Amino acid sequence: MKHVLALDQGTTSSRAILFDRAGQAVAVAQREFRQIFPQPGWVEHDANEIWASQSAVARELMEKVLPAPVGADGRATKSIADEMCVAITNQRETTVLWERATGQPVANAIVWQDRRTAPRCDELRLQGKAGLIQKKTGLVIDAYFSATKLQWLLDHVPGARARAERGELAFGTVDSWLIWNLTGGKVHATDASNASRTMLFNLHTLQWDDELLRLFNIPRSVLPQVVSSSGVLGHTDANVLGAALPIAGVAGDQQAATFGQACFAPGMAKNTYGTGCFMLMNTGTAAVPSRNKLLTTVGWQGPAGPRRTAYCLEGGVFMAGATIQWLRDGLQMIQSAPEVEAIANLVPDTGDVYLVPAFAGLGAPDWDGYARGTLLGMTRGTTRAHIARAALEAIALQVADVFDAMARDSGIALKELRVDGGACSNNLLMQMQADFLGVPVVRPKVTETTALGAAYLAGLATGLWQDAAEISSQWQVDRRFEPQLGAAQRRAKLARWRQAVERSKAWADN
Ligand code: ADP
Repeated sequence: MKHVLALDQGTTSSRAILFDRAGQAVAVAQREFRQIFPQPGWVEHDANEIWASQSAVARELMEKVLPAPVGADGRATKSIADEMCVAITNQRETTVLWERATGQPVANAIVWQDRRTAPRCDELRLQGKAGLIQKKTGLVIDAYFSATKLQWLLDHVPGARARAERGELAFGTVDSWLIWNLTGGKVHATDASNASRTMLFNLHTLQWDDELLRLFNIPRSVLPQVVSSSGVLGHTDANVLGAALPIAGVAGDQQAATFGQACFAPGMAKNTYGTGCFMLMNTGTAAVPSRNKLLTTVGWQGPAGPRRTAYCLEGGVFMAGATIQWLRDGLQMIQSAPEVEAIANLVPDTGDVYLVPAFAGLGAPDWDGYARGTLLGMTRGTTRAHIARAALEAIALQVADVFDAMARDSGIALKELRVDGGACSNNLLMQMQADFLGVPVVRPKVTETTALGAAYLAGLATGLWQDAAEISSQWQVDRRFEPQLGAAQRRAKLARWRQAVERSKAWADN
């Protein structure tokens, strides 16, 4: 093997990236697809459009690497495609239900952001199921995860439940849907990192859980087989990509990014600064239960040793880059996101102004759906520069809260934080982050860590890379931000922030 074709199926676009042995992206193609909002709070994708966009970008790259059928000497030529495998990483939790016979979806996919099953989640909480679900799945009861979405489809699509019970339907998260289509309907599988986001998968036995299947009234016949994140699970149908390539690596996007950041040892963590933030910390072979409302999740299964499983703790911040989008689109204070850095740099501090961007409530560790955005501490001297700076601080302070919860849950003192995602290019934000964490923040040269992580999982299974050590040696620092704030100042800053967070809580709960 010499190359990996990584398919990165995201929430708004599908991408294909070809990686070489050095872990460098040698070709990229990307295509957006439709977001469907049938009602307030509902978010759907047409699964056929997901597949159409994903297969189109994959084929676009394949056309670059497939040889002309015969060379000048009349013989078939060798091509990159002869020594290539496929990796998949995907938006997580999004739920697809399709007909086994035709491969046609029976309804639109319900996207992770969709809130239609929030009432069902309230009911489960009232029934006292939170403890059971957390113990078995590592998850907090929320509409975010697949189980209630699948139950909704089985209950609302005419005939679906009866057909599912007859074994005619297949369920999958987006990874399964891609695998099914890539293999021409031969393989119905998911990997353990994706399975662990369904709320039907037992983290400890690493199997679908009968008690949870009963709770959500899901017939076992719809479920995909759970396979290792690193290993050949099947081959692409030659009609689909023009060649039969081994599919050798699969992981959910955040877990793949953690792998791409080479966070292989317990206590290593990465944070992705996108629209929201996702922090994942490797906790090794132990599934650490959270006492601070973080999630416990499978990081990946394999490749170190036979089917070895790495677990992670995960914490999300809803409004990270989205806070900067709000400065741009809501307040129209800046024209583009990167501008925020120069404006925030006009002042040495926020002048005790705090912005709590609880625009959609607060996530981990506060989980207050009724909290709302709050701007406080303003005086006549407050300028937009102070507010811009407070917005950047708010991102870093929310991340510091998650980081602190992780350290408390795991009992591991994190030594550094690896970063990626669109907003990690902001040097001021990264310096603030190091200051508020009290540990160095490290930005790698390659920040395309999601696709790269999936590529690594596939390449390890096919001999492109030998082991984790070889991958770790490819990971290179772009810049390291050392904390410059003293411990006492840091504690005072975090305490002041917590006061601000408290004032944002329960605002919409009237
Ligand atoms: P996603 O994958 O969630 O779409 P990206 O990783 O592409 O997000 O990052 C884009 C987000 O990062 C946007 O919300 C944008 O506001 C923010 N962003 C981009 N550049 C900067 C910057 N220099 N400073 C602060 N925020 C930024």
